[in-house]
Amino acid sequence: MPPLALAIIGIALVIGLIALATRGGDDPAASQTATDPQIPQVSEADIAAAAQQLGPRDQELVNIGRTGVSIDRAGGARKYVALTFDDGPGPDTPAVLAALKKAGVPATFFVLGGNVQANPDTLRQVVASGNEVGVHTWDHKDLTRLKPAEQKAEIERTAGEILAATGVASRLFRAPYGSVNPQVLKQAENAKLLSVLWDVDTVDWTRPSTDQIVQTAVSQARPGSIILLHDGGGDRAATVAAVPKIIKELRAKGYEFATVGDLVISDPPGSDDMTSESRDTQRY
Ligand SMILES: [Zn+2]
Repeated sequence: MPPLALAIIGIALVIGLIALATRGGDDPAASQTATDPQIPQVSEADIAAAAQQLGPRDQELVNIGRTGVSIDRAGGARKYVALTFDDGPGPDTPAVLAALKKAGVPATFFVLGGNVQANPDTLRQVVASGNEVGVHTWDHKDLTRLKPAEQKAEIERTAGEILAATGVASRLFRAPYGSVNPQVLKQAENAKLLSVLWDVDTVDWTRPSTDQIVQTAVSQARPGSIILLHDGGGDRAATVAAVPKIIKELRAKGYEFATVGDLVISDPPGSDDMTSESRDTQRY
């Protein structure tokens, strides 16, 4: 099938998904609409098919990963870093977005499918502000403890929810707790997702002060770093306050900012920047 036809099918699917997603559940009028033959019914297989369609940038991103590895930073050839925010979208996400927008900095958000389902408008704001979105599973289970079919469902269901909410087919994956094994990495590869960990952990989920979060991010960052922060999973006021300070201090040291995708495409990771191991098994 020619690329244009695939693109048209993809757009039609997304429109259909949004139409389905915006319909009410218990409203009798809504269930009448559900039988309207003019509205396309989208199956899980349709969602999976749409998520498999790769544009040129997608292909480039997927090609960066080698079988059985995650990346934890870019190559280090350019003085760029990527800020990443996990566990949203949630109540603190708009404040993070506002701080990023004010500074003119794009970031990458690894989202939970359940939170996307609850806050689709927030995820649309994330995308509309020029940020990138990655899959962080549906409900933050340690995937290494699940059966292969459950791992697959956690990833695909979340990718489908992101696609339905935003029209974006994500190409990035971050395992909850940074916990991976060969089977989990294979599932990400099958879903055409690049597995992304980090090399700078602000441990903001342990509720340090804003200054401690800033200090960790700024002192550990190096060219190509991927910095782990959280916009969900609890009160993230300290992280929200840290974002403009991290940006200001890293800029003062000559750093610029990119999404994970742009960072690794412009500065591909070497083998030292990839790992087959779990990052660690703490709570993230
Ligand atoms: Zn997480």
